[in-house]
Amino acid sequence: MFAARVSTFGFALLLAASPAGGQSPPPIPSGAHRAAFLTAKQDAAMRAREAAAARAVHDEYDVAHYDIHLDLDIPQHILTGTVTLEATAEIANLSDVALDLYDCMEVDAVSVDGTPAGHTHAGGILTIDLGSVHQVGDPFTVSCDYHGIPSFSGSPFRWQVQNGVPMVLSYSEPWGAPAWWLCKDDPKDKATYGIHLTVPDTLVAVSNGGLDSVTVTGSDVVTYHWSTAYPMSPYLFSIAVTDFESWSETYTALDDVTTMEVTYWVYPTDLEDAQESWNRNIEMMEYYASLFGEYPFLDDKYGIAEFQHPGAMEHQTCTSMGSAWVTGNHVYDWIVAHELSHSWVGDMITMTEWSHAWCKEGFATYCEALYFEDKYGEHYYHNYMNRMDVMDYAHRQVYDSDPPLHGTIYYKGAWVLHMLRHVIGDEAFFDAVYAYTNEPDFRYDVADTEDLREVFEAASGTDLRWFFDQWVYHPGYPAYQLSWWWSETREGYDATVKIEQVQSVDWPIFKMPIDIVIDTESGTESFVVIDSLASQTFTLSVSDLPLDLRMDPEHWIIRGLELMDVVEGMPHLALGAARPNPFTFRTTLDYQLPGGIPLRAEILDLNGRRVASLPRGEGRLVWDGTDAAGHPVAAGVYYCRLRTPAWEESRHLLLIR
Ligand SMILES: [Zn+2]
Repeated sequence: MFAARVSTFGFALLLAASPAGGQSPPPIPSGAHRAAFLTAKQDAAMRAREAAAARAVHDEYDVAHYDIHLDLDIPQHILTGTVTLEATAEIANLSDVALDLYDCMEVDAVSVDGTPAGHTHAGGILTIDLGSVHQVGDPFTVSCDYHGIPSFSGSPFRWQVQNGVPMVLSYSEPWGAPAWWLCKDDPKDKATYGIHLTVPDTLVAVSNGGLDSVTVTGSDVVTYHWSTAYPMSPYLFSIAVTDFESWSETYTALDDVTTMEVTYWVYPTDLEDAQESWNRNIEMMEYYASLFGEYPFLDDKYGIAEFQHPGAMEHQTCTSMGSAWVTGNHVYDWIVAHELSHSWVGDMITMTEWSHAWCKEGFATYCEALYFEDKYGEHYYHNYMNRMDVMDYAHRQVYDSDPPLHGTIYYKGAWVLHMLRHVIGDEAFFDAVYAYTNEPDFRYDVADTEDLREVFEAASGTDLRWFFDQWVYHPGYPAYQLSWWWSETREGYDATVKIEQVQSVDWPIFKMPIDIVIDTESGTESFVVIDSLASQTFTLSVSDLPLDLRMDPEHWIIRGLELMDVVEGMPHLALGAARPNPFTFRTTLDYQLPGGIPLRAEILDLNGRRVASLPRGEGRLVWDGTDAAGHPVAAGVYYCRLRTPAWEESRHLLLIR
């Protein structure tokens, strides 16, 4: 099935390189840049894993809507909340439910359908007595008043200060949400939200969805009411509060009629810098809409809010962007693009479980490269991918990464898509990307690795289990050892390529189509071989004398590559000593080499400069002490060097006059 597609590889269309339109490309982020971006995220996740070990059992009910009231006592750092959730039973005879609320929060009152309800709160789980038995599909409403000082590993809710002004932020991913609001903390249970944030009237409270109202609700206090009718995973609910200044731009939808406001909230001191740093956001939205289909939250907004955290986070319709990335230039376009692309991959389509988080992070990281390829061309794209330092992560497994947001899911995850693109070709790849984000089963819902695989299989008409199995579900990468030689044939030459996989025995033997490019005396000939064994040999026919052979020259594969000089079993060159030596008039060197293997024989001086070329002869080379023009050369030491594609041998000669 796979072999049938081989012939199409060579004709895969590459995206047309479009000129930069006068904008010079930003520097490509280095591994160190990327590490800084990831550090906070990984630390939080690593420390949170144990703390989050005790989780509520979630599959018993489905949350449809959250109504959340949060009152921020900024001087005291006390959060007072009321969360009301509307849910339905998913199992028969449901009599109590477990919700996530860490013990830093004190529960003040709980009701079910408006009636006070019995409850226990321990080990981060609030268990509520529903008061009656519910059957599958029965609706119920739970409401809980609580207060406390949010506290949890990774600090998902923070009371910060910027320029002497309070700055309150949240960053729940992956397990921090229950530190500050009552929820069923499961990424696959999406719900709609009503969000009411009560803050001092000197501050602006920004959140997900659209802004319905700002109401004076007390002396010097206002309540911001945000809401969204689009389903959202709990880890994407976020708030950002400070004395924001804002400005807006208009995004025009693909229908050329519908418009949507894109709003940016920044610290007043960063207004000018942010206006420069983020002024390509609209063109990025247009690009991703062309790639994925329409921006998925047109009825809400897209927004970016600056926050006091060394990272960025794709909070649905309201990306949080660390102050460090607001630099007044375009050095961090990659972060702006990354977070925006999550609107489609991550927010609209969320992973079912954290073990599949590469589906969103690999995708968003690859989306950086795709945007840059569209803007700066194919060459920049390849440099961009190569600068990801994927080999730092290549030994690890992508699926079920521990911690779940390790760099592996970003960079090896992005390379999985990069490799897949080359395996199935551009047309099928981009068809699949569009099909994925337009699949009704996934839109505003969840998908996992297997869903992604099936989409790529449908678009390419080929079974890709082998690809996902080795690259996503197993650690490692192929370490190739390459040797090659050739022989003359009636029609031209046969180049023989031997590829061995010498990686750790704990890793798979990889199956991959590999590009082989052979430079011959008259041009370049390209091939694709399907390598799938520990040791495999391919014979490639070319019309002219092969001069060089390159394997995966555009670097489409995560791999080690070692070019071997000599292979056991290959025909050897045997070169004898010069006779006579020293010499005055003439010396000869005998050699043995099977017919058909090209040979170049040269005389070099001590500085390595070529003095003369010798005709191949019949197993015998002769030099008469003259240069290429036939003039006698000076007395001294010279070398006779013989070269075949695989070996080089030299003998020294002493010419005396
Ligand atoms: Zn991301």
